[in-house]
Amino acid sequence: MRTEADPGRLQAQVLAWRAEGLRVGFVPTMGFLHAGHTSLMDLAATRCDRLVVSIFVNPMQFGPGEDLDVYPRDPQGDAAKCAAHGCDLLFTPEAFYPQDFSTRVILGGITDRLCGARRPGHFEGVTTVVARLFGVVQPHVAVFGEKDYQQLAVIRRMVRDLAMPIEILGGELIRDHDGLALSSRNKYLSAANRERALTLHRALYAMRVTEDRNVERLLDVGRDVLDVDRIDYLEIVDTSSLEPLTTMDRPARALVAAFLGKTRLIDNVAL
Ligand code: AMP
Repeated sequence: MRTEADPGRLQAQVLAWRAEGLRVGFVPTMGFLHAGHTSLMDLAATRCDRLVVSIFVNPMQFGPGEDLDVYPRDPQGDAAKCAAHGCDLLFTPEAFYPQDFSTRVILGGITDRLCGARRPGHFEGVTTVVARLFGVVQPHVAVFGEKDYQQLAVIRRMVRDLAMPIEILGGELIRDHDGLALSSRNKYLSAANRERALTLHRALYAMRVTEDRNVERLLDVGRDVLDVDRIDYLEIVDTSSLEPLTTMDRPARALVAAFLGKTRLIDNVAL
């Protein structure tokens, strides 16, 4: 595995691969990698000849007062995991944006709800960095996790709207042995809060198995199970448009975001 911090040299390598007719896969991450991230690499590896993984903690997608400054990092451990999961080229940019970078990619509609409504500017940061990463990396296929369900939908929409010739694959949400959705942010949790965080997936699964399909009552089921300091949102939405549902007449997904202390966790499940 080669590690490259310079966007130009990284792109030269990818273009050389493309010229040889090789199919290039890409998994963008913010590092502190866990089995959720490596599952995306494993999936990507089945769909490409050369795999690029990026690690970049993107300041643009963090709001004021969020955890940018304390976001966990483990460069050596990350590199070992990438090498063990089929990564050929690890992209670790330091200054990823040119100094006078002035472009923003902004999607309407789909970013107005859920995490978009609670974290102003977050998706603008995500779509802008991913668009630039796509421009640098030039992948044929890119993989994003269903853990960040809205993000996956937003990226699919951006790629469609901007006619980017990139196939987007969703990787299933990977959980810890006790059901907690794997997340780099789980590191922030005290033992007691980690235990309470288990109620996120328990709430979602309780909703999933409830026979009464009335949306309001399903949300009540979820709220009753949640033991958190603050529910940021708990919603039942259309699987593809992410519009809130009032009746369960279409494929639906339940999404939750909640705070335990200062730590904000998200989870989701198909209903
Ligand atoms: P992050 O490093 O948090 O920006 O995540 C990088 C990618 O890994 C995103 O596409 C996430 O959706 C995905 N990811 C993070 N956690 C998980 C998980 N538990 N299961 C599957 N994918 C995940």
